[in-house]
Amino acid sequence: MDNTKELKKGHLHPMTTMINEINSIFSDMGFEFADGPEMDSEHYNFDALNFEENHPARAMQDTFWVKDKEKTLMRTHTSNAQIRYMENNKPPIRIIVPGKVFRNEATDATHEAQFHQFEGLMIDETTTLGTLKGVLNTFFEKFFGKEVKVRFRPSYFPFVEPGVEVDVSCFKCEGSGCSICKNTGWIEVLGAGMVHPNVLKAGGIDPEKYQGFAFGVGIERLGMLKYGIDDIRLFFNGDLRFVNQF
Ligand SMILES: [Zn+2]
Repeated sequence: MDNTKELKKGHLHPMTTMINEINSIFSDMGFEFADGPEMDSEHYNFDALNFEENHPARAMQDTFWVKDKEKTLMRTHTSNAQIRYMENNKPPIRIIVPGKVFRNEATDATHEAQFHQFEGLMIDETTTLGTLKGVLNTFFEKFFGKEVKVRFRPSYFPFVEPGVEVDVSCFKCEGSGCSICKNTGWIEVLGAGMVHPNVLKAGGIDPEKYQGFAFGVGIERLGMLKYGIDDIRLFFNGDLRFVNQF
């Protein structure tokens, strides 16, 4: 009689798997892992990143302020790690910062009050938007496992100049049009740009000598695209029927 019971093995949550994958792809390109605090000061989250006081850009990111602690908030992006890293390290800089971020907004199929982002920052004497395009192209091809094209559209973010919205060619229909790319052949994936001179200065880096790019991307959004998931809340509700599909 066989009375041995098979023990079921657990496995990593898809979020953890994706973060490991992202770290590994960027590590191959010479980027180092960095981190910043989830609860931080207004200085690192906004001021030092060139968000002027009363500038409408601050209102673009609905913020959870910490009660009874002056000028303290839950970080709205992983960009808070940029200045901290620059303060302690001199160029050349190549870092990747994955982590949790918080927005005070209503949740629905595409919005969560807590989600994950990763930030990329590369600074030296010669880095250009062309370098950024090459780095992102390599990342997306490895992450989606398909050949893709990357395109930039002009945009505005306070911490970069110029700023760009980055689109990736649809890896599902390869440009012929489908529901993922809303029949355009392109998918909007992230915001990026050349680091604003004021941000370099705030980090103690000479903008006359050094330049570089920064980008930030929602990890759940990438996962939803890669695996065809239509509700971001599935990443957080702990439903094993979802988790066990990975
Ligand atoms: Zn498509």
